[in-house]
Amino acid sequence: MAIVLAGGIAATPDGAYRADVRIDGETIAEVGIRVARDGDDILDVSGKYLLPGGIDAHTHFDLPMPDGTRTADGFFTGTRAAAAGGTTCVIDYATQFKGESLREGLDNWRRLADGKCFCDYAFHLAVTDWNDSARGELPEIILSGVTSFKMYMAYKGSLQVDDGVIYRALKHVTEAGGLLCVHCENGDVISALREELIRAGRVGPEFHTVSRPPAVETEAVSRLLSIASLAGAPVYVVHVSACSSMKKIIEAKAGGARLFAETCPQYLYLDDSLYGGGWEAAKYVCSPPLRGRENHDGLWASLRSGFADVVATDHCSFNFAGQKDKGRGDFGGIPNGMPGVESRVLLMYKGVAEGRLSLPAMVSAVSSNPAAIFGMFPRKGALIPRADADVVVLNPSGRTVISARTQFQNVDYTPFEGIEIPASIDAVYLRGVEIFRDGKFLGNTPIGRYVPRCSSGAPVISGNAQPAARF
Ligand SMILES: [Zn+2]
Repeated sequence: MAIVLAGGIAATPDGAYRADVRIDGETIAEVGIRVARDGDDILDVSGKYLLPGGIDAHTHFDLPMPDGTRTADGFFTGTRAAAAGGTTCVIDYATQFKGESLREGLDNWRRLADGKCFCDYAFHLAVTDWNDSARGELPEIILSGVTSFKMYMAYKGSLQVDDGVIYRALKHVTEAGGLLCVHCENGDVISALREELIRAGRVGPEFHTVSRPPAVETEAVSRLLSIASLAGAPVYVVHVSACSSMKKIIEAKAGGARLFAETCPQYLYLDDSLYGGGWEAAKYVCSPPLRGRENHDGLWASLRSGFADVVATDHCSFNFAGQKDKGRGDFGGIPNGMPGVESRVLLMYKGVAEGRLSLPAMVSAVSSNPAAIFGMFPRKGALIPRADADVVVLNPSGRTVISARTQFQNVDYTPFEGIEIPASIDAVYLRGVEIFRDGKFLGNTPIGRYVPRCSSGAPVISGNAQPAARF
């Protein structure tokens, strides 16, 4: 029996229009006016938005730490929280650690995730040990459906790779049909700044941000863009936090560079005043750190104009009690990261309700662009016939207050505590199955499926994008 979501407003990168969505099996059968046939199960969604399921292109579930502990959210709780918040697919960062082959790194993450996910899932592969044999594995890995990779310019002594490695990887990944994502912060300078601070006895969590000022990000972005241009390769810049860095990206894009930029809700809503409150500051220790409030308008403008392509979360959760406190006495020991996968879609809708972003631009950033850039479009990220029936019913008359007390995320706080959203997620469909309704899961079986991906495509430019960002 087909399901018809009747009388809704389809929200797409091209605009929002009155439509019914007919779902038959796992896919969308029809989108239009009065599409129901005899025998269809009709659900009235008048006045509600129908969005293609959210895609969070940057999560870290079940990530191991050097001391053997792991992030608070594994794939079971993390993807459950994602689904409750309107995200029907995550692209998690699998990691190839030193001494492992690329295949080993990926297989390790498949084992962690398979059978545990409430939404669909795919992997990027973070490469920390680049060598000839890793290079030789690239074509097979890409053909198998893992088409994006990541390297770190930060985390000296563990994840960081040097500029020569980035140059070579950009060339080889691009030749093989993949896309390289890069964490841009100058790890050498961060390490020197940190040493100075520790020597001066400045060890509290508030000094995390002092050791990673905007300039270390902006310098790394600028250097990366030069390296990518020398390599003749496109590149994807993860979690851009500062306007000065986004400005470099806008200039390069305006000059014709093929590159993609991601930002995160924490850089659009939270600011560095949160580092003022004693040990509480540890909750907000993430890299890059939160920036001054003066960065918010420019980052929103970059989304409005389509220069920033994607909003992802960098969800990497650690409990405030029991995990973050490993860094008491040395901010460098605080595990870096914050939760957020559950709140992303609604936080971006809040931006729409407040006039910071058009609804089509929001849909591009939270769903269609990550699908396109990471090779899943239009199977994911689109409300069109034959696409997976991943549909979110968002009620613009609802109300949600973000709180650790009511969240599905398996962590003892949320950085967005108390933020009110003038909307609610009324229902979530994953490949035609209604998995979530009115705040509750409709089953306890994780039915998420692994998604092999194709090569990167062009982002879906929102029809409502405004031409110039304001800085
Ligand atoms: Zn990350």
